[in-house]
Parts: sequence; C-alpha cells; structure tokens
Amino acid sequence: MGEQVTAAGEKPVASWAGMDRHRNEAMPSLTIILRSGGCRWGRCRMCGYRSVRYAGLSETDLEQRIIAQLRWVQDQFDLRTFPLIKIYSSGSVFDPAEVPLGARERIATLFRGKIVVVESRPEFVHEKEVAEFRGQLDDGTYARPLAVAMGLETADDAVREKSIDKGFTTEDYRCAAAEAHRAGADVKTYLLQKPLFLTEQESIDDVVRSINVAASFSEIISLNPCNVQSGTVLEACWKKGAYRPPYLWSVIRTLRQSPVHVVCDPVGGGHARGPHNCGDCDKEIVDGIRTYSLTGDTALLKDLEERGCACRKEWEYVLREERPYCMPLTR
Ligand code: SF4
Ligand SMILES: [Zn+2]
Repeated sequence: MGEQVTAAGEKPVASWAGMDRHRNEAMPSLTIILRSGGCRWGRCRMCGYRSVRYAGLSETDLEQRIIAQLRWVQDQFDLRTFPLIKIYSSGSVFDPAEVPLGARERIATLFRGKIVVVESRPEFVHEKEVAEFRGQLDDGTYARPLAVAMGLETADDAVREKSIDKGFTTEDYRCAAAEAHRAGADVKTYLLQKPLFLTEQESIDDVVRSINVAASFSEIISLNPCNVQSGTVLEACWKKGAYRPPYLWSVIRTLRQSPVHVVCDPVGGGHARGPHNCGDCDKEIVDGIRTYSLTGDTALLKDLEERGCACRKEWEYVLREERPYCMPLTR
C-alpha cells in the first residue's frame, strides 16, 4: 500500500470481492462503497447510510478524498481480475455535489474497459452526463459497459411515499430510465421487500407487482429483503416490536412468482435484523437464494420451498392472519 495514500488515511466505507450475475452471466465483481459528499435526500426511513459522508469540505477537497479512496482500491485489489465493478456512494454518483466531476472522471479512467454499475437517484440521471461517463468507460470490450442502478424500491407510489419517504414517483423513475437508455446504458432497478407498515402478505404482493412493472424498463432487477440499519426510523419501530424483517419464505415465494430472473443478496439473512425464519433453516435458505441469484436455477427454489421446516406453518399463519394497522388519510 502506498504511503502517500495512507497518509491521507482515506479508504472506502467498504469494498469486497465477490461473484455477481450481470445480464445472465455470472462473473467476478468488486463492490466499492465510496464515502462521498452524502445523499442530498437523506430521508428514507430504512436507510442507515444517510449520515455516512464528508461534511463541510470544499469541492476540491471532496474530489481529492474520493480520488484517494480510489487509489486505495487500486493498491488493495488486482483490478485485472474483475470484469464487473459496482460503485455505490450512499446516494448518487451522478450528483456533482456528492461526487465532483473530477472524481467521476477518475472512476471512469480507472475502470475503463470493464462493466461498471453506478448508483444514483433518478433526478441526477440525465442523458448527457450518462453518455459522457459511458463514453469514458468504453474501450470496445463490452457492448454495454455501463449500468445505472437506481432504487425504485416499489412500483407503488403510495407505498414509496408512506412507507419509505423516497421522494419520487414511478413516473420520475421511468423518465430517468429512459434517459439512461438513450445514453446507451443499462438500468438496474433495486426493489425493497417489506418496507415499514406492510404486512408479510402485502410485502410479497407489492414486490411481485413491482417486478412486473420494473421489468419493462430494467435490464437487471435486484431484490433487497429489508434489514434493520442503525439510527433509522425503521430501527425505532423494530425496537418497539412494530416491525419484523421479511421471512426468508417470503423471499423465496417472491422469487418463484417473478416472471424474470431477479438477483438477490439477503444481507443480514438469518439474523434478527435481517430477513429470517426460525434459525434452524435460515443458513440453507440464504445459501440457496445466493446460489439462485448467480445461477438462475429455478428448480433450486422449488426444492427449498418444498423441503420446508416447522416454521413454515408459522409463516403461513402470519400470511393468513396479519392485518395492517390503519393510518388516517387526513390530518
Ligand atoms: S436510500 Fe438512497 S436516496 Fe434514500 S436516504 Fe439512503 S442513500 Fe439517500
Ligand atoms: Zn425454519
């Protein structure tokens, strides 16, 4: 590791090597969560990344800090081994206040010739900027070197507003997806399974409906079973017993009902804060979901569901009997 880099002490919030399925092909991936200027929205009820940011830096300082993180990545990993790079910034890589233009250009230079997935909120996805970035990445190796990843979370505007407070509509998202497509980029859509205030059955219905909608404007759909992150509204509800993360059975049911392949990494799977069942069957199911995510092997999902566990009865009871709490429509 270069002294110059450690002297600045900058490194990403997290970075790890793994495998990912991208457009029906499994490949080695490097995931990088950059510390940036921070999400401008910062209101989503389940998001623990809202406070992960540099505060009060000039644009030049911010740019330099992000570039130093990229240097750290370069020193830590043999980049030649990763055809796929996923970059998250706890917000929007295309927001220049969060990731200054010079840092974005450095991302493109460093990962030129690879497939790069970058995260953004839809309001920062404009054809011109996306096309520019795509052009900087593209050396002719891949026909689609860029995917813009956005968190639609649900296709239901009311759920997105009341349960998440995400701050945009499905129509806004559709427009941003069209901008990305016109720029020659793919769209990767994130959906959230079981935000606040939905019953277990509602959460399955909501995601299955959302997958069907998102499939018309997304090349890749990724399902995030909700987990409880620190310092969030969701956590406060969870601590009072007013929220339970989804059952892993629900995730399997959702994936089985999906008309397209959906990637899914059940973060925190098997733990109280993550999607979980009874504790006995969790590991096998989490492993199975991860394998399905990579291989698209639907027989594996069927097998997991049919193998069952004593806790399946509890889950079926919850699906049948859980009732939503009422919220007043007016103040
Ligand atoms: S989920 Fe995304 S948009 Fe919402 S507050 Fe977190 S980083 Fe911002
Ligand atoms: Zn079980």
